[in-house]
Amino acid sequence: MADENQIAETTKKFQIQHDRPNCIGCAACAAVAPDFWTMSDDGKSDIVGCRKRDDEWEELDVEEKDYQINKEAADSCPVNVIHIINKQTGEKII
Ligand code: SF4
Repeated sequence: MADENQIAETTKKFQIQHDRPNCIGCAACAAVAPDFWTMSDDGKSDIVGCRKRDDEWEELDVEEKDYQINKEAADSCPVNVIHIINKQTGEKII
């Protein structure tokens, strides 16, 4: 029997990255994609359920169905601190 967690991981084709140190806290991402972006008490945004890196960037792997809404969030960011990577090709989409 296939491992369901393994299948779930392989369907997560994209990685959202948040350059949190340079976030200006405008809240556009949280307005556009509230299921994925939330505002924190320190005035900056967070990716919901993310991994926090040592350099204070945040990362979250998402499935293809969640790409578009996060692309819209990235497009809405006035300082371009939201990035999306295609994990299969390594392409930096934004
Ligand atoms: S849209 Fe960009 S600058 Fe504004 S809160 Fe979100 S990540 Fe930060």
